[in-house]
Amino acid sequence: MWLRSAGHLSRLSAVSRVRCLPPRRFCNAAAQSVAESNVVSETQTKYPVGSKHHGYTVSRVENVPELSLAAVLLTHDKTGAQHLHVAREDRNNAFGVLLRTIPCDSRGVAHILEHSTLCGSQRYPCRNVFFSMLPRSLATFINAFTGSDMTLYPFATLNAKDFNNLLSVYLDCVFFPRLEEADFRQEGWRLEQESLTDVASKLQFKGIVYNEMKGAYHEQGRMFQDQIQRNVLPSNTYAHDSGGDPMDIPDLTWKQLTDFHKRHYHPSNAKFFTYGDLPLDNHLQRISDHVLTQFERIEPRTEVPSEDSWTEPMRKVVNCAPDPTATEGDKKVVTSAVAYKVLSGCTEPLENLTMSIVCHLLTSGPNSPFYQALIESGMGDAYSTGTGLDLSPRNGIFSVGLRNIAEEDTDKLESIILSVMEKVAEEGFPMEQINAVLHQLEIDQKHEEQNYGVNMLLELTMSVWNHDGDVIGSLRRGELVDQFKAALEADPEFLQKKVRQYFVENQHRVTLTMVPTAEFMGERRLSEEARLQKASEALSETDRQNLLAEGLRMENAQNEISDVSSLPSIQLQDIDRHVKEEELSTESVDGTSVQYCLKPTNGLTYYRHLSSITAVQADAVPYLPLFCHLITRVACNNMTYQQLAQELKEHLGGLSASCYVAPHYIDDQSIEQAILFRGFCLDRKIPYLFSILSDIFSNPHFDDVAHMKDLIKMRATSIKASLTPSGHHYAMASAASSLSPHGRLSETFGGLSQMALMRQIADSEDLTEVQEHLRQLASSVLDISESRLAINVEAAQRDTVENSLLNFLSGVPRDRTDLDGHVQFGNFVGESKKRLFSSKALDVSYASHSVRTVPYSHDDHSHLAVLAHLLTDKFLHREIREKGGAYGGGSVMKNDHFTFYSYRDPSPVKSLESFTKAAEWAAEGAFSDTDIDEAKLAEFSKLDKPVLPASRGDRQFLRGISDKARQINRDRIFSVTRNDLVDVAKRYILADEVKHGIAVIGPESQQLSDSGFEVKQI
Ligand SMILES: [Zn+2]
Repeated sequence: MWLRSAGHLSRLSAVSRVRCLPPRRFCNAAAQSVAESNVVSETQTKYPVGSKHHGYTVSRVENVPELSLAAVLLTHDKTGAQHLHVAREDRNNAFGVLLRTIPCDSRGVAHILEHSTLCGSQRYPCRNVFFSMLPRSLATFINAFTGSDMTLYPFATLNAKDFNNLLSVYLDCVFFPRLEEADFRQEGWRLEQESLTDVASKLQFKGIVYNEMKGAYHEQGRMFQDQIQRNVLPSNTYAHDSGGDPMDIPDLTWKQLTDFHKRHYHPSNAKFFTYGDLPLDNHLQRISDHVLTQFERIEPRTEVPSEDSWTEPMRKVVNCAPDPTATEGDKKVVTSAVAYKVLSGCTEPLENLTMSIVCHLLTSGPNSPFYQALIESGMGDAYSTGTGLDLSPRNGIFSVGLRNIAEEDTDKLESIILSVMEKVAEEGFPMEQINAVLHQLEIDQKHEEQNYGVNMLLELTMSVWNHDGDVIGSLRRGELVDQFKAALEADPEFLQKKVRQYFVENQHRVTLTMVPTAEFMGERRLSEEARLQKASEALSETDRQNLLAEGLRMENAQNEISDVSSLPSIQLQDIDRHVKEEELSTESVDGTSVQYCLKPTNGLTYYRHLSSITAVQADAVPYLPLFCHLITRVACNNMTYQQLAQELKEHLGGLSASCYVAPHYIDDQSIEQAILFRGFCLDRKIPYLFSILSDIFSNPHFDDVAHMKDLIKMRATSIKASLTPSGHHYAMASAASSLSPHGRLSETFGGLSQMALMRQIADSEDLTEVQEHLRQLASSVLDISESRLAINVEAAQRDTVENSLLNFLSGVPRDRTDLDGHVQFGNFVGESKKRLFSSKALDVSYASHSVRTVPYSHDDHSHLAVLAHLLTDKFLHREIREKGGAYGGGSVMKNDHFTFYSYRDPSPVKSLESFTKAAEWAAEGAFSDTDIDEAKLAEFSKLDKPVLPASRGDRQFLRGISDKARQINRDRIFSVTRNDLVDVAKRYILADEVKHGIAVIGPESQQLSDSGFEVKQI
């Protein structure tokens, strides 16, 4: 899995796999401005080195003041289990257990085990512990990941009782799972008749991981990163696909799965992590009593050796699935990159940091040598996936290359890459660029992201901890940066020498080319067919009968309501009745409305700016997303685009623009449409934030056609690549688009039509018309008269902000007078639509069904929000994932749409039926009081996610939703009754007059076109 952030569809990313990481941030740690908190100082004094606690001995304890934390490392005497505790004044406590898992084939054993452990355990013998726990918990993060050499089970929660509940469940599932054969068949793979009423019907492979990986083999980006690891480190576990290759998965046996568990899921092979303000003592006692005392030490022998260095480079060509959005006339293109083994092991924190900086300087932004040599060469559309440094395996890997280049250009690409390395080794990097990276490191330490504890765990795991590196040393960021600066000062050629050592003189490199071919999927399909044929021939009549009986048993088990009474749960009375108030103030500064939130922000200033787009002419509206993308990347005022990029990196933490559309929270005939700017910086850089904004607002230039073409190609490529990992978002946007004005506009901004427009622009030679639209948009959007701002800053900085803000406001255009931010769509008539967006290159589908309901302020809105959780957890999960074999599915209430979805779905027709059946099931009211309570808990868990310093006040600022309105909504959720749920299911989903938007993205389907679906090629 790609560590997608857990958004409102977090369930989709639940139980996934880490295979390849996105280009890494150096550090996403955030220091709180608490000087020395109690929990930190107490931890230090209570756990001196050598002291013993519950069978553990402390081996190291250190204070890290720049992150306001203390870290304690312990070893369990009897089993050798390791434990890292990070004490920090943070209520969002986190836990993780990390196991080094090293498969020696591509049968998917580690991945299937990760799924199967969460299917029931000794203490919690119910069918699906993981998914059953979701509605019984207030977790701010809960998931499981499989990487190429590790498996990780993390969670985080703000509630102490919930922490202990989840800890008990995770410990029991990981170390004492039932691992029944039925779980293996359900989660891994099984043979089954296509029809369970016909013993002679064709056989098929089913299984959740089997289907998940079938989908994954369509993702070119994932495939490419996977192939890089396999080919740079071919001697050990990285040669295999730990997620499982569908061609190999059916070779895995249940016995192999349980054996793998015995060896790898053992305390002697485990590392435990706890984080937050809860006391360590309690954690140690619970883990020791529940797990460690039950085991004797073993020698798991899971160390991964360092890959021996080669004496000469390699070349490799592999095939992959074609791009599902490609059309027949497209020229044949490939992805190619040069990948190096760098670092003899990712276990040295300073060397890791140095190489992170070097790799960032090499590739990031328009001033980097590879951007200039590759992106601006026009040979390809964008960097190849995974460009940058990957510190997750035993040896680090750096790769750089291009997507969508002509096959004959691969030699040329390789020689450019080698010559850039030589040039950099000769000339080095400009000091201003090095300083800009150091500035970004400083920001990263202060800028707080969601789930600090879990992020820290992931960061530590991926680089150093899984391979027994210096885990506490790598937490000492400030010290590492100082050491880096000292090294650079002592030797100005420090970085050049690294480039020489790791790149110029390094023969351990692969030039990898990946060629999309129609045959790739064809061959895989044929091989699956042949395998099924062989299996079919080997079956006797009795075997067939047995197989059918097993299939029926599984279906019955899936239909049974699982008894989850053994699982612990948070109760509604544990939930706070009151909303946390936001403490905001709003005032007018030079005629513009500014919302302030004056709370601690770790020394950062956060800025938001909504600028109305009501003045934009209709034909220019589809160009707004492109405008937003370009506006912070093209030249402006007196700056070239390179200068602007340098300014942004040197002075700001980030500056972005995006399209914003939302229905009014009371008036359902009115929507707000705007551009949302977001920026942030260190407090000492406040004047720069506003001066850069002034430059951008006063005079953006859209005349450098070559540069714009590079940006457009990169953007079109990244949008296209999002289709397979985010197909459900596209399906949901299409489904909603015919029902409401904001559904329609959201689709225009971020749906398949936007994807098509970007492709068309990227393919066109002449940009004159596009430039015209962009200039027109600049004149109507970059105008302050119809804007409002929000600023989150510490009280002491308020005057500085206000002075800079006044300068900014007085200098930017303010010519519009006749506008209102909201647009009325009283005459909008929704219509029912059924559409299939098909591509021959897709094997699985994404289905969605949407209905329009009521705005936030309406009573029924809260009822529908609870209904969405009820249907997801108590009906759709079973029908769509367990029975249907899709990777995920559910329903969400967002804005005023109630929308069903399925993800990586082998049978979309069945899922569409399940969506309606779900509503019918709800309308019958045959669910328990516990089900209702759990659905409410799930909604509270969503509403009560911690609000980060950057987002405080967003609900009020963006939607106008006040604390009072939120309290009314909260009260309504507490009081939802069975009748309310029955009633809204009937009225909003099942009633005759309801309009239905239905969309499927997937392979061609006769069945859908026969049942009245309008069919379009993607
Ligand atoms: Zn999975």
